[in-house]
Amino acid sequence: MTTPSGTPAHTHHPLPSYLQADHLGPWGIYLQQVDRVTPYLGHLARWVETLKRPKRMLVVDVPIELDNGTIAHFEGYRVQHNLSRGPGKGGVRFHQDVTLSEVMALSAWMSIKNAAVNVPYGGAKGGIRVDPKKLSRGELERLTRRYTSEIGLLIGPSKDIPAPDVNTNGQIMSWMMDTYSMNTGATATGVVTGKPIDLGGSLGRVEATGRGVFTVGVEAAKRTGLAIAGAKVAVQGFGNVGGIAGKLFAEAGAKVVAVQDHTGTIFKSDGLDVPALLAHVKQHGGVGGFAGAETMANDEFWGVQCDILIPAALEGQITKDNAARITAKLVIEGANGPTTPEADDILADKGVLVLPDVIANAGGVTVSYFEWVQDFSSFFWSEDEINARLVRIMQEAFDGVWQVAQQHKVTLRTATFIVACQRILHAREMRGLYP
Ligand code: NAD
Repeated sequence: MTTPSGTPAHTHHPLPSYLQADHLGPWGIYLQQVDRVTPYLGHLARWVETLKRPKRMLVVDVPIELDNGTIAHFEGYRVQHNLSRGPGKGGVRFHQDVTLSEVMALSAWMSIKNAAVNVPYGGAKGGIRVDPKKLSRGELERLTRRYTSEIGLLIGPSKDIPAPDVNTNGQIMSWMMDTYSMNTGATATGVVTGKPIDLGGSLGRVEATGRGVFTVGVEAAKRTGLAIAGAKVAVQGFGNVGGIAGKLFAEAGAKVVAVQDHTGTIFKSDGLDVPALLAHVKQHGGVGGFAGAETMANDEFWGVQCDILIPAALEGQITKDNAARITAKLVIEGANGPTTPEADDILADKGVLVLPDVIANAGGVTVSYFEWVQDFSSFFWSEDEINARLVRIMQEAFDGVWQVAQQHKVTLRTATFIVACQRILHAREMRGLYP
């Protein structure tokens, strides 16, 4: 990696204790990523501290009455990392391990992602520290409504627009939309995205992230001389993102040779029957037990002979322990944060091209943006129109990042951060500081 000379000096002030890096955690990783791009920001480096301090963080108590009559309290968060380019945008996660620092990092990555694909949003994220699988439907609804009321100070169609993330879905978005609408006295469909079609949702939203993964994969393959037809693809996670991406690669003539999910790992060297596998997953909840494939030990998945590897399940999957065994030429990050920083360096040294999450899985937020635009105008587009616009945005974003990577001889992750940080900080510079 080269560092341009003549980088302008920028002033450092110690970060408040709650913003300091926990080097093992996601916020620490994010701060490292910002430090890595600072030398490429030119005169905008003067503003870089802005990216290390979330603009606004709200921690709320969410009390609900459980079905058994007791009162339970949950901790909820909404973090608006940066609003320089537009209203906040980012999902809401319901998980027992959610912490403020995790939500801070996820909100910061949303700022980067939204700027990377140039949708007019800042970055935000929310969450509740709860295991929603332990709640009844009524409890989940009460939790969602109370949380929405508590963060009502911050959200709104032109302020901050939540969306689904881990363990939240169209039903939860519907309750959020209804609660916000009741509190403000007018039906406001544009306050959340990822809604059902009948409530102002968008066609193409469900497939959008997988379609974006496929689109950037095709662009990268073109530039590296890899033919998609006949390419061997391995996919971890065969849900919304991995399942759709796998289907689109198979339709383009690639062979999906290995798939891993929480039920196990399956393998077929001349290519799995993807439509049949999707039907099996729909019926049985996972790839385990699929006829017409061999099974393999989960750890062997990482060494499978393939050209393209798509991690589309969880964070922290490609690590220093398995990165050296990866045979793929191209890794497309469908999941958020699937590659640890050590593994990233191992892959870069091996010459593996990694398409980073902040651009590769941005198809979801791009169609969320279309949903929000459609809600504002109350005019809904056809699925073909949505897919064509999505593909164009993803292609343009990828092309811009590719050029920056070539110019500075950096990884696509660093290049994406350079493009995104420049856009955010340029907006900040033009707006200036208030007052
Ligand atoms: P999903 O729930 O539809 O699918 C998750 C998949 O991961 C399932 O196939 C599940 O079996 C598999 N999985 C779970 N635990 C596993 C384990 N221990 N080992 C192997 N596989 C495991 O979720 P999704 O919406 O497809 O999201 C997947 C990833 O993509 C997440 O990181 C999510 O944050 C990210 N993402 C999703 C979207 C979106 O629009 N859905 C957008 C951006 C990023």
